[in-house]
Amino acid sequence: MSQIISNKTQLEEALNPYRRKGVSIGFVPTMGALHAGHASLMHAAKRETALLVLSIFVNPRQFNDSLDYETYPRTLSEDIACAETAGVDFIYLPQYDELFLEDSPASKVSLNGLDLPMEGASRPGHFRGVVEVVYALFNHVKPHRAFFGQKDFQQLAIIRAMVNSLSLSVSIVSCPTLREVDGLAMSSRNLRLTSIQRQTASVLYRALSLIRESWHNEPPLELIHKAKEMLRQSPLDLDYLFIVDPDTLLPVEIPQDSAVVCVAAYCGEVRLIDNMLLSAD
Ligand code: AMP
Repeated sequence: MSQIISNKTQLEEALNPYRRKGVSIGFVPTMGALHAGHASLMHAAKRETALLVLSIFVNPRQFNDSLDYETYPRTLSEDIACAETAGVDFIYLPQYDELFLEDSPASKVSLNGLDLPMEGASRPGHFRGVVEVVYALFNHVKPHRAFFGQKDFQQLAIIRAMVNSLSLSVSIVSCPTLREVDGLAMSSRNLRLTSIQRQTASVLYRALSLIRESWHNEPPLELIHKAKEMLRQSPLDLDYLFIVDPDTLLPVEIPQDSAVVCVAAYCGEVRLIDNMLLSAD
């Protein structure tokens, strides 16, 4: 049975006895509306750590669009059932006022420019809100290992940068993207798609796959052109599509061993993101 906790003191009282005994604590931060992608993070955490904390918090600071925040799916009772099935020990539902303190180092920490392109350019302030909440949650939970999805590739790179810059003692574990049968990356926002939009949304996966399949044979700019053409002929409204270096997130214009293609597009009013690793083998 998962125990639900909704303030920092209660959380510390619950975790401290385990911490003192040297039990390894795994942590999966989420915004809820849990799906199989989130569950895969919980399963990875169960394999690698002895005690699992899941947080659910829809963080207003990382939404640059108030409509997106208001309409973000909230499904707490289903989420609790999902967490229990996955074997979560503690479900943490933090309070806004306990998370955001005035002088958090996360408000100023350098992100090495990783927060500037792609999501950073399209959603000003988004990543500052992400690092602030993740820093605060790490501070509350003090996990040994924290699990994040590659689905949010740029977010993962930025969290690693924050952990390095602030010398935090938590290991960041990256987990592969879980997809629906037609390739669409699982996302809480998929709940907002109409059935027709849901069918058309998988074009994102096909556009990324087109690039991955020809990565060895065609120049990056040619591949970007073809994938954008595929998206232009679909009902989706492209925000960006870039092939970038996985470490620097700078655009890749000449072929290199490993890269990642990242895409964001609107399907109706719903903004979807996805990415795929491109490698030499
Ligand atoms: P969110 O609730 O959207 O903030 O996501 C919480 C965590 O789940 C993040 O680390 C995401 O990258 C991860 N995640 C979201 N969707 C997927 C997916 N389809 N596969 C694997 N991980 C995911």
